Amino acid sequence: MAGPAPAISEIDVAALAAWLDARGEPAYRAGQILGGVQRPDVTGFADLTELPAALRGGLADAFRFSAIERSHVLTADSGLTAKAVHELHDGQRIESVLMRYPARGRAAERTTICISSQAGCAVACPFCATGQAGFGRQLTPAEIVDQVLHWHRAPWLALGAAWRPGSRVGHYNVVFMGMGEPLNNADRVFAAVRLLNDPARLGIGARHITVSTSGVLPGMDRMADELPQVNLAISLHAADDALRDELVPINRKWPVADVVAAGRRFADRTGRRVSLEYVMIDRLNDTLPLAERLAAVAGGWRSHVNLIPLNPTPGSRWSGSPPDRVGAFAGVLSAAGVPVTVRDTRGREIEAACGQLHAQLAGRDLPDMANRAASVPAEVAVR
Ligand code: SAH
Ligand code: SF4
Repeated sequence: MAGPAPAISEIDVAALAAWLDARGEPAYRAGQILGGVQRPDVTGFADLTELPAALRGGLADAFRFSAIERSHVLTADSGLTAKAVHELHDGQRIESVLMRYPARGRAAERTTICISSQAGCAVACPFCATGQAGFGRQLTPAEIVDQVLHWHRAPWLALGAAWRPGSRVGHYNVVFMGMGEPLNNADRVFAAVRLLNDPARLGIGARHITVSTSGVLPGMDRMADELPQVNLAISLHAADDALRDELVPINRKWPVADVVAAGRRFADRTGRRVSLEYVMIDRLNDTLPLAERLAAVAGGWRSHVNLIPLNPTPGSRWSGSPPDRVGAFAGVLSAAGVPVTVRDTRGREIEAACGQLHAQLAGRDLPDMANRAASVPAEVAVR
């Protein structure tokens, strides 16, 4: 069975030039097309009015404008957090989340876009909605990049307003913390990072991109080689092997000491600080002796601990640690000289954590909303 037409967001410039050449079009049109489809106001090939009409039609026949068929958007926190469930050509659904942090004091406005790398995930962490749902399939580079373009093109956000062709988008942060284990799809994820980086496309600086992993060792070492400017976050969640075997089952293959050593290698080789993510689960991994264990592995190298109170999945046997326990845990790390922050949990009411909204909408039709620009947020009850 023939697959869907290639998506324009992952076509390389040489392939596009060859396609143009076969139609008797000049090569410079490749740059014109790739630049044009990044413009936030362009929502289809028909909007590329600088091109001859026949070429616009030809593009629409040969390529998909987006690898995302349609999206359903919900907002929370007065519009500062928004979440999309994206439907792909084969009916698979993935999620992305947008978080805006308004300018405060001297800090400029920041926008973080959280994207998925796989439909589902095979790592099967028991506290994670995506892990509970199992593995669907790998995402293509275009399916990854088009999640970012979805938000870039949303007119109600006006995010793309500051973007200029050839400019580097410094005010977007992209984090691979949606559905999936990015380093179990490393080739396509790395290709997507290069596409996001490409100055002829969005031009998002590598230092504004973070890959979060449950600890896939070969992928971590490849990242240090191939994408040393990209930030690495490791989902540690426990510094004790017996506990981590349960919370992050891939630990049975790559245990704590090996994962931490790989994080340390990354920090040494790149000169960059590595984040250690730690989901705080009430009375499971949040005791003071476990904070000491964490301090022992996180101390003495360029690491930074992020504490995230668990956002319980429906029916979860666990709940998030209360604030006083999070504070005491953070205190142990600080006292040991380990940099630590407590992450805010945005968008709880729209199930913004990994895979949760997807779980709620499973088996239901997405309210019919055109993809990209047309998606004005709808406040839709999902319960
Ligand atoms: N698979 C990768 C990236 C996606 S998950 C990874 O595990 O790192 C992104 C982050 O969300 C991870 O740190 C993950 O542990 C965390 N997460 C998953 N479910 C969560 C929940 N219910 N509450 C809080 N954080 C959660
Ligand atoms: Fe997969 Fe990350 Fe969820 Fe674990 S936390 S199941 S690795 S997406």
